[in-house]
Amino acid sequence: MMVTRVGFGGIPIQRLSEDEAVAVVTRCLDLGVNFIDTANGYTTSEERIGKAIKGRREGLILATKSLSRSREGVAKHLQQSLRQLDVEAIDLYQFHSIGDSKSLDIVLDPEGPLSVLEEARRAGKIKHIGITSHQIDVAKKAVASDRFETVMFPFNFVTDKEGLELLAVARQHDVGFIDMKPLAGGMITNAKIAFKFLFQFPDVVTIPGIEKPQEIEEIISILNGPQQLSEEERQQMQQLKQQLGTRFCHRCDYCQPCKEGIAISTVMIYPSLVMRLPPHQIFSSFWAMLMEKASSCTQCGECEERCPYHLPIRDMVAEYYSQYEKDKSDYQKKAAR
Ligand code: SF4
Ligand code: SF4
Repeated sequence: MMVTRVGFGGIPIQRLSEDEAVAVVTRCLDLGVNFIDTANGYTTSEERIGKAIKGRREGLILATKSLSRSREGVAKHLQQSLRQLDVEAIDLYQFHSIGDSKSLDIVLDPEGPLSVLEEARRAGKIKHIGITSHQIDVAKKAVASDRFETVMFPFNFVTDKEGLELLAVARQHDVGFIDMKPLAGGMITNAKIAFKFLFQFPDVVTIPGIEKPQEIEEIISILNGPQQLSEEERQQMQQLKQQLGTRFCHRCDYCQPCKEGIAISTVMIYPSLVMRLPPHQIFSSFWAMLMEKASSCTQCGECEERCPYHLPIRDMVAEYYSQYEKDKSDYQKKAAR
């Protein structure tokens, strides 16, 4: 799969109207982007992308993914994706967010869901199989299994250590590296240094979530400009890294288990969820259920002892829960008007 240096991440278009979403994808295609990533779990994203790529399928590398870990679930999601994207075949089909070794073993089991995708590949419904993960040990194990052609992992200058570690293993195994979270889930606001950092790695394709045509225009102009980081930019990067590093959740889940059943890594990325997802999805669904559980935090502190990044989890859980409560109340008032 020969892809452009910048791809399109399909999460944020769920927040837009259908016309706006189609216009954003169209703008990316017009600017030469040839790699589009979405997921069965991103509600309207596949269908909207399907509308935007109508008549423009040639030369496009289309990727999507399934959160299911069962044979039946993966088979069903694949059929749904083909229908929603309205295509004959998907270039890259990925197991979405494999978070622990047990899930990876389920996927890799000879009788497991990977064999369903391998069969679909033989039948020509998909062309390649990949995996996505936030967990470095799981991602490395998946790459070393030599059963996947791509790995998607968060990589940006704030979390460069794990990204570089995985990139080295991916190179050894000739596995394509797809970078998610180039802006650290919205925490890096200086796109210029974020992308200049990433463009140092010619074998990494980055897939920023794009919501507005101006965003992709800016990224492409950074790509076409001088890519060398100046001394001043390197210093800015270091400063930001120090500031953000103390509050950046890597979603590795080493802090688990929480005795109160709080999904800590989800609560920790609440500001990023608010930026990327439509409000009705956050305040009235599965995300709401996970966020509301945060109210039962007893401040025991056990999670902090296990967090390798020494994050102030108790304070952050309390802060994001209260931000969630306020946002929910504002949303409900607005909906009632
Ligand atoms: S809080 Fe720490 S241990 Fe828990 S997911 Fe985030 S980075 Fe990992
Ligand atoms: S401090 Fe809160 S989130 Fe952390 S383990 Fe204890 S109850 Fe769970």
